Amino acid sequence: TWFSLNSLVREVIDDLQHTTVKHTLVHDFADTGEIFSDRERISQVLVNLISNAIKYSPAEGEVIIRTQRQNNEFTVSVEDFGIGIAPDKHKRVFEQFYRVSGSKQHTFPGLGLGLYISSEIIKREGGKMWVNSIEGEGSTFHFSLPAEPVNNDFL
Ligand code: ATP
Ligand code: MG
Repeated sequence: TWFSLNSLVREVIDDLQHTTVKHTLVHDFADTGEIFSDRERISQVLVNLISNAIKYSPAEGEVIIRTQRQNNEFTVSVEDFGIGIAPDKHKRVFEQFYRVSGSKQHTFPGLGLGLYISSEIIKREGGKMWVNSIEGEGSTFHFSLPAEPVNNDFL
């Protein structure tokens, strides 16, 4: 269905802000208009990425969610200032059950499925997901989606 990505991001942020007092969730957006995609599944992707940003920023900090549109492509990014990810793991974090092991002061519960599921959803909706991160400084997870319907009948 057609929906406003900005309204969806706003809803998810409002829900997840209640789960933390240490973090401030910030929505930085341009007027992007509507997208044709699966609203429930994109909501799940946003929850996964923003929950990770909170979980892997054990000190307090901002989480910045940006939405923008260039022609027929939407891009959403979720930036945190948390533990970050070493370069050799940037691809591996999207694998099923993969978790970065051996963090120093903190143990973080999880199954290693959130990013795998999220990246599969984005692929199915015709988009891409990737990460930029510096260990010890933070991470930014991005996904792009086409604004218009895609043919995913073959999936
Ligand atoms: P869950 O299945 O509950 O989501 P998870 O959070 O461990 O468990 P993923 O969301 O798939 O699993 O993330 C995989 C791994 O990638 C994590 O275990 C963590 O090591 C790393 N990771 C994910 N997001 C971040 C982030 N924002 N900052 C640092 N590391 C991250
Ligand atoms: Mg997760």
